Amino acid sequence: MRAKLIILIAATLAVLAAGFAVDHNRDDHVETAVDGVVADRGQIDAAAPTSMAPASTTAAAAAATIGPSPDGKSSILVTPTGAVTIVLAKEGSRYRVRTPCGGEAHLSSGKVYGATTVVIDPGHGGFDPGASSAEGLTEAALNLDVAKQAKAILDAMGYTTVLTRESDYYVPIQIRAEIALAAAPKLVISIHHNGGEAATHQGPGTEVYHQVQSSTAKRFAGLLWEEITNMFAKTYQVTWWGASDAGAIYRPDKDGKTDFFGVLRRTYPTIPSVLMEAGYMTNPQEATLMARPDYRQNEAQAVANAVRRYLTTADAGSGFKVPNNRGFDIGSGGGGFEGCTEPKFS
Ligand SMILES: [Zn+2]
Repeated sequence: MRAKLIILIAATLAVLAAGFAVDHNRDDHVETAVDGVVADRGQIDAAAPTSMAPASTTAAAAAATIGPSPDGKSSILVTPTGAVTIVLAKEGSRYRVRTPCGGEAHLSSGKVYGATTVVIDPGHGGFDPGASSAEGLTEAALNLDVAKQAKAILDAMGYTTVLTRESDYYVPIQIRAEIALAAAPKLVISIHHNGGEAATHQGPGTEVYHQVQSSTAKRFAGLLWEEITNMFAKTYQVTWWGASDAGAIYRPDKDGKTDFFGVLRRTYPTIPSVLMEAGYMTNPQEATLMARPDYRQNEAQAVANAVRRYLTTADAGSGFKVPNNRGFDIGSGGGGFEGCTEPKFS
């Protein structure tokens, strides 16, 4: 408890020092959907001017030569430092890209992706750590580790996987969605781990949210929920936490039709997208598991298995529930462009 208090104080001081009105203790669902409110949407979209960009952030030297992507259509460039950018144009030997904070840069080294099967979106990062365990594991770090391992497994299966970030930096929700739309995959998976309080639950309290109006996203949500919960339940014996409606569910915005979560709303109807809350970082027993390499590896394998089943079978998935009303509270900040700092590109 004391350690938790110290962490909270430290986090609060860090937030105050950085000048961000971000409440890191609020419910994770709220946190991931902060740009999901109609009243704020215009403001957030308007806050993405290219004038925020550095005048020209040009990689000094070409560490590697960028070749054309296999299909000749480049979409995403990932720098050697793990910054994920959107290719706008090829200009001579360089690429003009849209950066994580919505600016432009000219880059001459990195990996360029063409045709993409899956985009995996590791939630949070940078000044936004997301949820955290009592021991100080952040959701941002856990999401990234699981996403990287899932990418490695999917790549080994022969699929091409793009992450929305490959290191620890902040990415506005709009840019996450733009990366997904530029990569044009068959699926988008946003990986999160829950915070807040929940009751004990029979079996893992995994929640997989699909786009409200997408039957394809719904099928994938059912497959992902099935793979994740089966793997957790058969591998680990702990007291799980979960909401009464944990399952393959959805979260509508106030209109009842569009999605509350920004990544899901912004990619609909072009790409089937889901957002997973795999488990509770605030449950000490689950947090102990989350610190273990085997848990993360198993979670990543379950994500990859669900993708393969979605792409290669007609399986329907399971765990579909009618969700409780989680409200429309966006919390006090995050998700938009405010506070965004460009990562290093070289
Ligand atoms: Zn989250």
